[in-house]
Amino acid sequence: MLPWLESSYQQLAALHQQQHFPHAILLSGCRGLGKQTLVKAMAGLLLCQSESQRKPCGQCKACQLRQAGHHPDYWQETETEGRIGVDSIRQLSRFFHEHAQQGGARVAVVPQAERMTEAAANALLKTLEEPPKGGYLLLTSDQPALLLPTILSRCQQWPLAVQHVTQAQHWLQQQSDQTLPDFLLPLISTAPLEALHWLQQGLVEQASEILLQLEYYVHDKASLQQTVQLATKSQQLPLLLSWFLRERLPSLGGYQPQRYWQLLQSFQHWCRDEKLLLGQNKQLALTALLIELKRIMV
Ligand SMILES: [Zn+2]
Repeated sequence: MLPWLESSYQQLAALHQQQHFPHAILLSGCRGLGKQTLVKAMAGLLLCQSESQRKPCGQCKACQLRQAGHHPDYWQETETEGRIGVDSIRQLSRFFHEHAQQGGARVAVVPQAERMTEAAANALLKTLEEPPKGGYLLLTSDQPALLLPTILSRCQQWPLAVQHVTQAQHWLQQQSDQTLPDFLLPLISTAPLEALHWLQQGLVEQASEILLQLEYYVHDKASLQQTVQLATKSQQLPLLLSWFLRERLPSLGGYQPQRYWQLLQSFQHWCRDEKLLLGQNKQLALTALLIELKRIMV
Protein backbone atom coordinates (compact mmCIF):
# COMPACT_ATOMS: atom_id res chain seq x y z
CA MET A 1 0.00 0.00 0.00
CA LEU A 2 1.12 3.56 -0.63
CA PRO A 3 2.56 4.67 2.74
CA TRP A 4 0.33 7.76 3.13
CA LEU A 5 -2.78 5.58 2.62
CA GLU A 6 -1.64 2.75 4.88
CA SER A 7 -3.49 3.96 7.99
CA SER A 8 -6.76 4.44 6.04
CA TYR A 9 -6.32 0.95 4.62
CA GLN A 10 -5.80 -0.49 8.11
CA GLN A 11 -8.88 1.30 9.46
CA LEU A 12 -11.03 0.04 6.59
CA ALA A 13 -9.61 -3.47 6.97
CA ALA A 14 -10.50 -3.34 10.68
CA LEU A 15 -14.10 -2.39 9.80
CA HIS A 16 -14.21 -5.39 7.46
CA GLN A 17 -12.79 -7.66 10.14
CA GLN A 18 -15.48 -6.51 12.58
CA GLN A 19 -18.08 -7.01 9.82
CA HIS A 20 -18.91 -3.30 9.92
CA PHE A 21 -17.71 -2.41 6.45
CA PRO A 22 -20.23 0.10 5.02
CA HIS A 23 -22.34 -0.85 2.00
CA ALA A 24 -21.41 2.38 0.26
CA ILE A 25 -18.23 4.32 0.71
CA LEU A 26 -16.81 7.44 -0.91
CA LEU A 27 -13.04 7.94 -0.95
CA SER A 28 -12.27 11.54 -1.83
CA GLY A 29 -9.07 13.53 -2.29
CA CYS A 30 -6.80 15.09 -4.89
CA ARG A 31 -6.18 13.44 -8.21
CA GLY A 32 -2.79 11.75 -8.00
CA LEU A 33 -3.23 10.72 -4.38
CA GLY A 34 -3.74 7.00 -5.09
CA LYS A 35 -7.46 6.59 -4.33
CA GLN A 36 -7.74 3.92 -7.00
CA THR A 37 -4.93 1.89 -5.42
CA LEU A 38 -6.78 1.95 -2.10
CA VAL A 39 -10.12 1.06 -3.70
CA LYS A 40 -8.62 -1.92 -5.53
CA ALA A 41 -6.98 -3.15 -2.34
CA MET A 42 -10.32 -2.86 -0.50
CA ALA A 43 -12.14 -4.69 -3.29
CA GLY A 44 -9.54 -7.46 -3.03
CA LEU A 45 -10.09 -7.70 0.69
CA LEU A 46 -13.89 -7.79 0.43
CA LEU A 47 -13.78 -10.53 -2.22
CA CYS A 48 -11.04 -12.70 -0.66
CA GLN A 49 -12.41 -15.94 0.81
CA SER A 50 -9.59 -16.72 3.24
CA GLU A 51 -9.88 -16.44 7.02
CA SER A 52 -7.23 -13.74 7.31
CA GLN A 53 -9.17 -10.50 7.04
CA ARG A 54 -6.40 -7.88 7.14
CA LYS A 55 -5.24 -8.32 3.56
CA PRO A 56 -6.17 -10.43 0.52
CA CYS A 57 -4.45 -13.84 0.70
CA GLY A 58 -3.60 -13.90 -3.01
CA GLN A 59 -4.09 -17.70 -3.01
CA CYS A 60 -7.83 -18.41 -2.87
CA LYS A 61 -9.95 -18.78 -6.01
CA ALA A 62 -11.48 -15.31 -5.52
CA CYS A 63 -8.04 -13.67 -5.28
CA GLN A 64 -6.82 -15.54 -8.36
CA LEU A 65 -9.89 -14.59 -10.39
CA ARG A 66 -9.55 -10.96 -9.33
CA GLN A 67 -5.83 -10.84 -10.13
CA ALA A 68 -6.58 -12.25 -13.57
CA GLY A 69 -9.27 -9.57 -14.01
CA HIS A 70 -12.08 -12.15 -14.35
CA HIS A 71 -13.87 -12.07 -10.99
CA PRO A 72 -17.59 -12.37 -11.84
CA ASP A 73 -18.58 -10.55 -8.63
CA TYR A 74 -16.44 -7.49 -9.34
CA TRP A 75 -17.69 -4.67 -11.52
CA GLN A 76 -15.86 -1.47 -12.38
CA GLU A 77 -16.83 1.61 -14.33
CA THR A 78 -14.12 2.74 -16.79
CA GLU A 79 -11.48 5.21 -15.64
CA THR A 80 -11.58 7.44 -18.73
CA GLU A 81 -12.31 11.17 -18.60
CA GLY A 82 -15.79 10.88 -20.14
CA ARG A 83 -19.13 11.28 -18.34
CA ILE A 84 -20.81 8.26 -16.75
CA GLY A 85 -24.23 7.76 -18.30
CA VAL A 86 -27.39 6.20 -16.91
CA ASP A 87 -26.85 2.97 -18.88
CA SER A 88 -23.64 2.26 -16.97
CA ILE A 89 -25.37 2.74 -13.64
CA ARG A 90 -28.28 0.50 -14.70
CA GLN A 91 -25.70 -2.17 -15.53
CA LEU A 92 -24.25 -1.68 -12.06
CA SER A 93 -27.70 -2.08 -10.46
CA ARG A 94 -28.36 -5.30 -12.36
CA PHE A 95 -24.94 -6.61 -11.37
CA PHE A 96 -25.63 -5.74 -7.75
CA HIS A 97 -28.96 -7.53 -7.57
CA GLU A 98 -27.75 -10.80 -9.07
CA HIS A 99 -26.61 -13.55 -6.72
CA ALA A 100 -22.90 -13.62 -6.03
CA GLN A 101 -21.48 -16.30 -8.31
CA GLN A 102 -18.61 -17.10 -5.95
CA GLY A 103 -20.93 -17.09 -2.95
CA GLY A 104 -19.22 -14.13 -1.27
CA ALA A 105 -19.44 -10.37 -1.62
CA ARG A 106 -20.23 -8.37 -4.75
CA VAL A 107 -18.14 -5.26 -5.26
CA ALA A 108 -18.78 -2.38 -7.66
CA VAL A 109 -16.34 0.48 -8.15
CA VAL A 110 -17.16 3.88 -9.65
CA PRO A 111 -13.98 5.97 -10.07
CA GLN A 112 -14.37 9.76 -10.23
CA ALA A 113 -18.05 9.50 -9.43
CA GLU A 114 -18.54 13.25 -10.07
CA ARG A 115 -18.54 12.30 -13.78
CA MET A 116 -22.06 10.86 -13.41
CA THR A 117 -24.79 12.63 -15.35
CA GLU A 118 -27.85 13.70 -13.36
CA ALA A 119 -29.83 10.71 -14.65
CA ALA A 120 -26.97 8.37 -13.71
CA ALA A 121 -26.75 9.88 -10.23
CA ASN A 122 -30.50 9.42 -9.72
CA ALA A 123 -30.26 5.80 -10.86
CA LEU A 124 -27.41 5.22 -8.41
CA LEU A 125 -29.49 6.74 -5.64
CA LYS A 126 -32.06 3.96 -6.06
CA THR A 127 -29.33 1.35 -5.57
CA LEU A 128 -28.06 3.22 -2.53
CA GLU A 129 -31.53 3.30 -1.01
CA GLU A 130 -31.90 -0.47 -1.20
CA PRO A 131 -28.40 -1.91 -0.91
CA PRO A 132 -28.45 -5.67 -1.59
CA LYS A 133 -27.04 -7.95 1.07
CA GLY A 134 -23.34 -8.59 0.51
CA GLY A 135 -23.11 -5.77 -2.05
CA TYR A 136 -20.43 -3.10 -1.61
CA LEU A 137 -20.31 0.09 -3.60
CA LEU A 138 -16.95 1.88 -3.65
CA LEU A 139 -16.93 5.41 -5.09
CA THR A 140 -13.99 7.74 -5.52
CA SER A 141 -14.03 11.45 -6.32
CA ASP A 142 -11.58 14.30 -6.87
CA GLN A 143 -14.44 16.79 -6.43
CA PRO A 144 -17.02 15.36 -4.01
CA ALA A 145 -18.77 18.76 -3.82
CA LEU A 146 -20.09 18.06 -7.33
CA LEU A 147 -21.98 14.96 -6.15
CA LEU A 148 -25.67 15.11 -5.21
CA PRO A 149 -26.11 15.77 -1.46
CA THR A 150 -28.45 12.76 -1.35
CA ILE A 151 -25.64 10.54 -2.64
CA LEU A 152 -23.14 12.02 -0.19
CA SER A 153 -25.48 11.42 2.73
CA ARG A 154 -25.91 7.74 1.84
CA CYS A 155 -22.18 6.99 1.58
CA GLN A 156 -19.71 6.75 4.39
CA GLN A 157 -17.22 9.47 3.51
CA TRP A 158 -13.48 8.99 3.74
CA PRO A 159 -11.59 12.18 2.86
CA LEU A 160 -7.98 11.23 2.13
CA ALA A 161 -4.82 13.34 2.16
CA VAL A 162 -1.07 13.05 2.64
CA GLN A 163 -0.63 13.43 6.40
CA HIS A 164 3.16 13.49 6.56
CA VAL A 165 4.88 14.91 3.51
CA THR A 166 8.19 13.28 4.50
CA GLN A 167 6.54 9.87 4.01
CA ALA A 168 5.62 10.77 0.45
CA GLN A 169 9.07 12.29 -0.19
CA HIS A 170 10.76 9.15 1.05
CA TRP A 171 8.54 6.99 -1.14
CA LEU A 172 9.27 9.13 -4.22
CA GLN A 173 12.96 8.94 -3.53
CA GLN A 174 12.66 5.14 -3.63
CA GLN A 175 10.90 5.27 -7.01
CA SER A 176 13.30 7.67 -8.71
CA ASP A 177 16.97 8.52 -8.27
CA GLN A 178 16.38 12.14 -9.30
CA THR A 179 16.74 14.93 -6.75
CA LEU A 180 13.36 16.30 -5.69
CA PRO A 181 13.33 20.03 -6.46
CA ASP A 182 11.72 22.47 -3.98
CA PHE A 183 8.96 23.47 -6.38
CA LEU A 184 7.73 19.88 -6.42
CA LEU A 185 6.91 20.02 -2.71
CA PRO A 186 3.32 21.35 -3.05
CA LEU A 187 2.62 18.54 -5.51
CA ILE A 188 4.29 15.89 -3.32
CA SER A 189 2.20 16.96 -0.35
CA THR A 190 -1.10 16.78 -2.26
CA ALA A 191 -0.67 14.35 -5.16
CA PRO A 192 2.47 12.20 -4.85
CA LEU A 193 1.56 10.00 -7.84
CA GLU A 194 1.35 13.12 -10.01
CA ALA A 195 4.78 14.15 -8.70
CA LEU A 196 6.09 10.73 -9.74
CA HIS A 197 4.57 11.26 -13.18
CA TRP A 198 6.50 14.56 -13.41
CA LEU A 199 9.75 12.81 -12.52
CA GLN A 200 9.19 9.99 -14.99
CA GLN A 201 8.01 12.15 -17.88
CA GLY A 202 10.74 14.80 -17.79
CA LEU A 203 8.26 17.44 -16.62
CA VAL A 204 10.61 18.50 -13.83
CA GLU A 205 13.17 19.68 -16.38
CA GLN A 206 10.49 21.60 -18.27
CA ALA A 207 9.27 23.17 -15.03
CA SER A 208 12.82 24.20 -13.99
CA GLU A 209 13.28 25.82 -17.38
CA ILE A 210 10.04 27.81 -17.04
CA LEU A 211 10.88 28.97 -13.51
CA LEU A 212 14.33 30.11 -14.63
CA GLN A 213 12.78 31.92 -17.57
CA LEU A 214 10.40 33.75 -15.20
CA GLU A 215 13.37 34.84 -13.13
CA TYR A 216 15.16 36.12 -16.26
CA TYR A 217 12.00 37.94 -17.26
CA VAL A 218 11.69 39.66 -13.88
CA HIS A 219 15.34 40.76 -14.19
CA ASP A 220 14.88 42.06 -17.75
CA LYS A 221 16.98 39.28 -19.22
CA ALA A 222 14.17 37.66 -21.22
CA SER A 223 11.36 39.11 -23.27
CA LEU A 224 7.69 38.96 -22.35
CA GLN A 225 6.82 37.17 -25.58
CA GLN A 226 9.44 34.43 -25.12
CA THR A 227 8.34 33.91 -21.54
CA VAL A 228 4.66 33.60 -22.46
CA GLN A 229 5.49 31.16 -25.25
CA LEU A 230 7.55 28.92 -23.03
CA ALA A 231 5.20 29.08 -20.04
CA THR A 232 2.04 28.20 -21.97
CA LYS A 233 3.64 24.87 -22.93
CA SER A 234 3.23 23.63 -19.36
CA GLN A 235 0.00 21.90 -18.34
CA GLN A 236 0.83 22.72 -14.73
CA LEU A 237 1.41 26.43 -15.02
CA PRO A 238 -0.89 27.41 -12.09
CA LEU A 239 1.18 25.25 -9.77
CA LEU A 240 4.48 26.63 -11.09
CA LEU A 241 3.36 30.25 -10.99
CA SER A 242 1.98 29.79 -7.50
CA TRP A 243 5.35 28.50 -6.34
CA PHE A 244 7.22 31.25 -8.18
CA LEU A 245 5.07 34.07 -6.78
CA ARG A 246 4.89 32.78 -3.21
CA GLU A 247 8.29 31.17 -2.70
CA ARG A 248 10.75 32.43 -5.28
CA LEU A 249 9.74 36.06 -5.85
CA PRO A 250 10.00 37.13 -2.17
CA SER A 251 13.58 35.84 -2.12
CA LEU A 252 14.46 37.85 -5.24
CA GLY A 253 13.62 41.07 -3.34
CA GLY A 254 13.20 44.53 -4.82
CA TYR A 255 9.43 44.62 -5.20
CA GLN A 256 6.69 46.84 -3.80
CA PRO A 257 4.88 44.96 -1.01
CA GLN A 258 1.50 46.60 -1.59
CA ARG A 259 1.50 45.76 -5.26
CA TYR A 260 2.64 42.25 -4.40
CA TRP A 261 -0.68 41.52 -2.63
CA GLN A 262 -2.58 42.92 -5.60
CA LEU A 263 -0.58 40.65 -7.86
CA LEU A 264 -1.51 37.61 -5.75
CA GLN A 265 -5.16 38.58 -6.14
CA SER A 266 -4.78 38.89 -9.90
CA PHE A 267 -3.09 35.51 -9.85
CA GLN A 268 -6.13 33.98 -8.09
CA HIS A 269 -8.40 35.42 -10.78
CA TRP A 270 -6.08 34.17 -13.50
CA CYS A 271 -6.15 30.64 -11.98
CA ARG A 272 -9.95 30.69 -11.99
CA ASP A 273 -10.18 31.84 -15.64
CA GLU A 274 -7.24 29.83 -16.94
CA LYS A 275 -9.17 26.54 -17.10
CA LEU A 276 -11.85 28.10 -19.30
CA LEU A 277 -9.64 29.94 -21.79
CA LEU A 278 -8.27 28.46 -24.99
CA GLY A 279 -5.54 29.30 -27.53
CA GLN A 280 -4.88 32.98 -28.03
CA ASN A 281 -7.02 34.05 -25.07
CA LYS A 282 -4.91 31.88 -22.79
CA GLN A 283 -1.79 33.68 -24.03
CA LEU A 284 -3.41 37.10 -23.60
CA ALA A 285 -4.46 36.37 -20.01
CA LEU A 286 -0.95 35.20 -19.14
CA THR A 287 0.59 38.23 -20.87
CA ALA A 288 -1.54 40.56 -18.72
CA LEU A 289 -0.51 38.73 -15.55
CA LEU A 290 3.19 38.84 -16.43
CA ILE A 291 3.00 42.56 -17.23
CA GLU A 292 1.57 43.08 -13.76
CA LEU A 293 4.35 40.94 -12.32
CA LYS A 294 6.97 43.18 -13.91
CA ARG A 295 5.25 46.32 -12.59
CA ILE A 296 5.68 45.34 -8.97
CA MET A 297 9.46 45.28 -9.30
CA VAL A 298 11.09 48.56 -8.24
ZN1 LIG B 1 -7.89 -14.67 -1.06
